Amino acid sequence: MVDLKKDVKYIKGVGPNRAELLNKLGIFTLQDLITYYPRAYEDRSKPKTLFECIDGEETLIEVVATSRIVETRFGKKTMQKLMISDETANAEAVWFNQTYLKSKFSIGKKYRMYGKIDKKYRKIQILSPVFDEYGYTQNTGRIVPLYPLTYNLSQNILRKIMENAIEEVYGNLSETLPEYILKKYSLPSINKATKTIHFPEELQDFQIARNRLVFEELLMTQLALLKLKYHDMHQIKGITFSNKHKISEIIKIFPFKLTNAQMRVLQEIENDMESPKMMNRLLQGDVGSGKTAVAMCSAYKAVKSGYQAVIMAPTAILATQHLENFKKMLSSLDINCELLISGITKKKKEEILQKLKNGEIDILIGTHAVLEDNVEFKNLGLVVTDEQHRFGVRQRSKITKKGQNPDVLVMTATPIPRTLALILYGDLDISIIDELPPNRKKIETFAVTKRMQERIDNFIRKQINEGRQAYIVCPLVEEGEDNNLKSVIELAEKYQKEIFPEYCVTYLHGKMKPKEKDDIMLKFKNHEIDILISTTVIEVGVDVPNSNIMVIEDAQRFGLAQLHQLRGRVGRGEYQSYCILKYEGNSENIRKRMKVMCDTNDGFIISEKDLELRGSGDFFGTMQHGLPEFKIANLFEDMPILKKAQIVAQEIMNKDPDLKLLENKLLQRVVNQKLERLGTGTL
Ligand code: ADP
Ligand code: MG
Repeated sequence: MVDLKKDVKYIKGVGPNRAELLNKLGIFTLQDLITYYPRAYEDRSKPKTLFECIDGEETLIEVVATSRIVETRFGKKTMQKLMISDETANAEAVWFNQTYLKSKFSIGKKYRMYGKIDKKYRKIQILSPVFDEYGYTQNTGRIVPLYPLTYNLSQNILRKIMENAIEEVYGNLSETLPEYILKKYSLPSINKATKTIHFPEELQDFQIARNRLVFEELLMTQLALLKLKYHDMHQIKGITFSNKHKISEIIKIFPFKLTNAQMRVLQEIENDMESPKMMNRLLQGDVGSGKTAVAMCSAYKAVKSGYQAVIMAPTAILATQHLENFKKMLSSLDINCELLISGITKKKKEEILQKLKNGEIDILIGTHAVLEDNVEFKNLGLVVTDEQHRFGVRQRSKITKKGQNPDVLVMTATPIPRTLALILYGDLDISIIDELPPNRKKIETFAVTKRMQERIDNFIRKQINEGRQAYIVCPLVEEGEDNNLKSVIELAEKYQKEIFPEYCVTYLHGKMKPKEKDDIMLKFKNHEIDILISTTVIEVGVDVPNSNIMVIEDAQRFGLAQLHQLRGRVGRGEYQSYCILKYEGNSENIRKRMKVMCDTNDGFIISEKDLELRGSGDFFGTMQHGLPEFKIANLFEDMPILKKAQIVAQEIMNKDPDLKLLENKLLQRVVNQKLERLGTGTL
């Protein structure tokens, strides 16, 4: 057997210098190397005659040299020209600055060349071709892999190294999937698949190899997630909350009637809470679907059963807003809520920590500040995290450690296509609020270019004169917080001085002190501010029903899911609301994305489209899910394989939940490795 942990520098053709370059690509071991998969292939195996060649196409030709190389010099540059021919035509092969080629060709000898064809009038050229003497297949005559990012390694060198590596491992790799799965799904062996993915003999072979590797990767992930879930459900005993205090008690005092979806979800939560198993539930609901009310009901039940609850939100603004809502509803019921964010005074903080420890505080609402080590509860029974996608897996587990297996409810407004929810949150049960409170008006969305600026400004003016308020979101600045800040301030100045001098314009950004942010939000809520210019800090959760306009500058820079979140800040009251997407550029993709936003308000449709238009890499990147990174699988393209892997994983777990059977031994090892890594926050 080969040692896959072997340092790449010992692979034939590598050595210390190239090893350093490989390290930059994340390749440290033989294993890393052979799982560095090609991003594409070039078929250099099917020759065409010069007559058949098409202008502009990369083509393989088989030709005889009919001259020596002629070199011309112009300035510092040189050009090498070789006359070639086959039985159908004459042509020229042309290179630039390749002086060493001079002695490479002999008149009358046959060569294979692969390169771009330039065919104008009667003249045929092949530009900077790679070549082999006829009969050799180093650069031509086969399908060659193209690798992603090679830094200072050329494709040729990396390919050669890969050839050596594959030669070393081929036939010696131990199988990673059980025999019965290979048979049942007619999958190629690991040896065959590994060789073929790098060096397919026919282009369609690679697909078979790739499918196996993708299937394997997704299967292992699914198994790990299911195992985690199974473990949670069956091993961890949680709190059994009292069935004397029903959630229905608090529902009566709400100023509105809960939607059917909210009621259904609350029933699911209540069942979980009353059962001895530990609740681990994801609540998904589009922006404005009323998740806060659900969190409040759950916290009520926990407190009435004699436990404390913690609500964690990603921003101070949101935490403060939650506190206000909770206080409004719960203080009359003698439930004590407190706020813990990093901005509060030391004295206040100490007081809170003290009260928390001796149980005087029933519900703690806060930001990441609640994760700090000195935050101790008397008896934490329920953990709610709002806008889950802003927190990592690790933070989720840190907060639960502050209690004795408290029930966990995580909430997110980022709609995730169902199949992917399993990948992202396979360890959680899922509840979905698929209904908005009644009488919500569709937010009218317009995508506009700079030309419309004045009309938009007039439109905003008209709405504000009618008593409404507006949000304006700044362009996303990539070069970090400081530039972000600059762009907010500049934009606010422009709006205040040049466009809307008659109104109160203020700005908000992530670097402000929490107290400052809260003051501004409070003023906005009380309508002391007409127009709020902001970075995406207002993206999540903020609720000001009187504001009905959301303007997003440079909307093309945002992902659809994020635009949807931002748009969700309006349309929360009785007024018709508007979202104006200012965009630049007219690529088809940009226009398509803007159209999706104008066409629908449905977060699920938007997230599917987002995935389709951007591919899964970006989708997850911007959503900061702490998601597993896949070596070969692409969650969008490989959706059918993902579905299959999900079914197979479920079958295996039903039969052998601990993967103890001999036939599953191979799976057990890999799955356990994955679970170990999960402990550190990745999968
Ligand atoms: P999100 O799910 O985005 O967190 P919120 O919980 O902030 O949504 O609720 C959005 C708004 O809808 C709030 O003003 C809330 O009071 C209101 N709301 C929630 N549930 C209902 C309901 N069943 N009927 C009417 N209004 C509701
Ligand atoms: Mg919310």
